[in-house]
Amino acid sequence: MNSLAEDIKQQVESEISSCRNCKKCLLACPLPESKGIDIFHLNREILSERPTHAMLDFAFLCYSCGACNDSCSEHLRRDLHMAYLRSKGRLPKGFTNLLHWRGRSLGPIDKVLYSLKRIKDRPVDSIAGHLDKTEFKDTDLLFYFACYAYSPSNIPEKTLGIADHLGLDYDVIAGYSHCCGWPHFLAGDFDRAEPLFIDLFNTITNTTAKTVVTGCAECYKALKFIRDRYAGSFKVLTTTEWITAHQKKLKLTKSTEPITFHDSCQLSRLEDKADVPRALVKKMASLVEMEANRRETRCCGGMRAGHEPERLNILRQNRLTEAKSTGAKMMVTECITCYEKYHPHAKDIKVRDLSELVYDRLKK
Ligand code: SF4
Ligand code: SF4
Repeated sequence: MNSLAEDIKQQVESEISSCRNCKKCLLACPLPESKGIDIFHLNREILSERPTHAMLDFAFLCYSCGACNDSCSEHLRRDLHMAYLRSKGRLPKGFTNLLHWRGRSLGPIDKVLYSLKRIKDRPVDSIAGHLDKTEFKDTDLLFYFACYAYSPSNIPEKTLGIADHLGLDYDVIAGYSHCCGWPHFLAGDFDRAEPLFIDLFNTITNTTAKTVVTGCAECYKALKFIRDRYAGSFKVLTTTEWITAHQKKLKLTKSTEPITFHDSCQLSRLEDKADVPRALVKKMASLVEMEANRRETRCCGGMRAGHEPERLNILRQNRLTEAKSTGAKMMVTECITCYEKYHPHAKDIKVRDLSELVYDRLKK
């Protein structure tokens, strides 16, 4: 098998040779800078060994939202082309928080820093007991929390609360040592992404699990990518899909409160899963739609980490303003990355994850 970097290079080169230069991808891109970019120039720069600083700056602004892919009649992966372009530049500092301390092969300083994080941000006991463990019990069902085991939300805890309510047997993969590698992949750091992919694939396939459930849309994409690249056979489900599969056993209370739903780019736009969370929300509340919904959703900018934070803050505040304009008092997400990007900005509107809402509405 080729290295990941070689495979991505081959795929991008082949795709660029099929590009019709129609520019629909750039016209669909939410970045204002994209409209001024010459498509021939962009394609040349993607293939160049030494792209210009201006084009690298554009690549690092990319949200990895996939709006470009969705508009391409040739089904080309423009988001992947941007990740490939990033691989040729120097990662801005704003990305660091999303990439460091991940994986099992940490240097001595990173090991100490990660230990301090484990103390400072220690999750509740029901989650902390799973952190970075390497032995898993025999079970069909695995929850994949990885880095979001440290989420200041109680989403992992409530997800397990639903599983306990259902009386299911399960185990949990949690902690930075089990990072899915997707942030590194999207940042164009394919050499750091690949060992993380392989470690996670081996961790999962060394268990008896048939199904892996995750509440992060980016982890979901990573898990599917890893399974397909290394020929695994486990099933990957979003938390929403997993809850939906058990919904007949869940008695949920319904209110007339209007709730709006924020679609994640990866699930609603690129995986066409927008109906699944809506059906669940409608069992608990009255759903009101934002103007930009389903495949037309607006990106939370989560995969651009902290690069140009002021612009990211405006992006998030604008989305919350759009949510409030529906009359809803709550915006629900189904991706913890989206949740964590919006929650700190929420004023006059609550931001909650679908798993939290389901847990709180269970007739216990
Ligand atoms: S992934 Fe999104 S931000 Fe990046 S180029 Fe495509 S449309 Fe633009
Ligand atoms: S939309 Fe597709 S075919 Fe058109 S320029 Fe973009 S990548 Fe090329």
